[in-house]
Amino acid sequence: MAKRDYYEVLGVPKTATLDEIKKAYKKLAKQYHPDLNPDSKTAEDKFKEVNEAYETLSDENMRARYDQFGHNDPGSGGFGGGGGGFDAGQFGGFGDIFESFFGGGFGGQTAANPTGPARGSDLRVDISIAFEEAAKGLEREIKIVRMENCTSCNGSGAAPGTQAKRCPTCGGSGKVRMAQNTPFGQFQTVRTCNTCKGEGTIVERPCPTCSGSGRVRRERTLKVNIPAGVETGSRLRMSGEGESGHKGGPPGDLYIYISVLPHKFFKRQEDDVLYELSISITKAALGCEVEVPTLEGDAKLTIPEGTQSGTTFRMRGRGFPKLRGRGKGDQKVTVKVVVPTRLTEEQKQILAQLDHSLSVPQEEKKGFFNKVFK
Ligand SMILES: [Zn+2]
Ligand SMILES: [Zn+2]
Repeated sequence: MAKRDYYEVLGVPKTATLDEIKKAYKKLAKQYHPDLNPDSKTAEDKFKEVNEAYETLSDENMRARYDQFGHNDPGSGGFGGGGGGFDAGQFGGFGDIFESFFGGGFGGQTAANPTGPARGSDLRVDISIAFEEAAKGLEREIKIVRMENCTSCNGSGAAPGTQAKRCPTCGGSGKVRMAQNTPFGQFQTVRTCNTCKGEGTIVERPCPTCSGSGRVRRERTLKVNIPAGVETGSRLRMSGEGESGHKGGPPGDLYIYISVLPHKFFKRQEDDVLYELSISITKAALGCEVEVPTLEGDAKLTIPEGTQSGTTFRMRGRGFPKLRGRGKGDQKVTVKVVVPTRLTEEQKQILAQLDHSLSVPQEEKKGFFNKVFK
């Protein structure tokens, strides 16, 4: 299947701002989240597609590169979920890709030295947390599987007590030069050495623990501190918790992508919590004091007399902590006045009496007719 355009995946124009991209991502991530679509392979695929598109378009550098090269970026491949083995780590993180590419290394030779130290691959974990957890922050244990340096051989791949030898074919450079005769003359080509697969060294007695690869797959449990105020699309980075580097290179990073699950009755808008409060027409007319649920338990809210449906009250400091900066958002309570249905005869009579004594001011009536019949 051909890869879809990232902008198309998120349904945003190429000129979209970061905010628009975030908004589109949040909506789609929620829609296709695996927790909300159990057993749906389609949703799972969509979720992955959406995340991948967001990953690229939310990062200024990666987006610029995507705009330039599309899916055929010659320097991509650093961000892998593993499985790529040694090669995946060759270019290291995004910063490295960027530099090595523009550093002029593009062409006949690989920019990074293939036999030298290379940074480990970055890893990615998706976790979902409850609405309240996003407000309070939490510590969560996560399980990851990553390639680590084999401790038996310290990553060399050679059996303990033995050493990897310099490759006799390429003399340790990992590359061989070949002269090729063509009708246009002789060409020199540089190829990866077949004997050592570009490693520059040969292991004669492979380490029994890692079968000579120098790396082993390990499951690790890590504690992650998720700060209060995160939202869907927030990305945490745990420095150095990615895969081990190659030949003494630094490890990659672990990225944790957060999805916040929807709440039964709260909604979120930036750092504010939105809540809809239903009250009766009598309470709206007479005013009342009500208990309103907030992120920190019930709190009193005074509804003044004569409150109209759709009025919003602000409960200061009852929202989400601001992820950057201090303070908290508010809780916005929007009143919905509920017109009663199924009245008893007695209630109907009381309302009828009330109707006699109430009259809508003439001014408002005029305004209404002007609007409608002009
Ligand atoms: Zn080993
Ligand atoms: Zn070699």
